[in-house]
Amino acid sequence: MAVQRTLCIVKPDAVEKNVVGEILRRVETDGLEILALKMTRLTDQQAQGFYAVHRERPFFKDLVAFMTSGPIALAVLEGDDAIARWRNLMGPTNSSEAPAGTIRGDLGTDIERNAVHGSDAPETAAVEIPYFFNATEITAPVEALAG
Ligand code: ATP
Ligand code: MG
Repeated sequence: MAVQRTLCIVKPDAVEKNVVGEILRRVETDGLEILALKMTRLTDQQAQGFYAVHRERPFFKDLVAFMTSGPIALAVLEGDDAIARWRNLMGPTNSSEAPAGTIRGDLGTDIERNAVHGSDAPETAAVEIPYFFNATEITAPVEALAG
């Protein structure tokens, strides 16, 4: 199975609830490696750029307002099949319907305030990780990646 990297965002609702540590504990318990980690607060421009794929959707303005409403935590995760593993830990988009045991089910609120983000494909991760992290901020060399 291929070693992958994925972008993890702990969204403003989860930072506000003081569950950054709980979310990272689940990441570590699953065996994913945290290669980079920082707190920041997104500008309007950064949030709009990050979610540009959704710019025509009716919820886009609300989503940008939510994502800029407070600090977030950003992490780069690595492991075998990391993209699917992180999304399995996250659970489905709508926290109201996400099963118990998933991060969104346990710690999110609704379809918008859903605690976490994860890249959805290797191509997405390859854009999302450098959107927030310089190569010097990531602890392992890119050469370690397969494929
Ligand atoms: P993310 O990209 O944040 O990991 P996702 O891939 O599960 O989430 P997307 O369809 O990419 O879901 O939606 C991006 C984000 O937009 C969601 O996580 C959620 O915060 C918000 N969102 C999605 N659909 C809706 C909706 N119908 N109403 C309000 N907000 C929504
Ligand atoms: Mg998405």
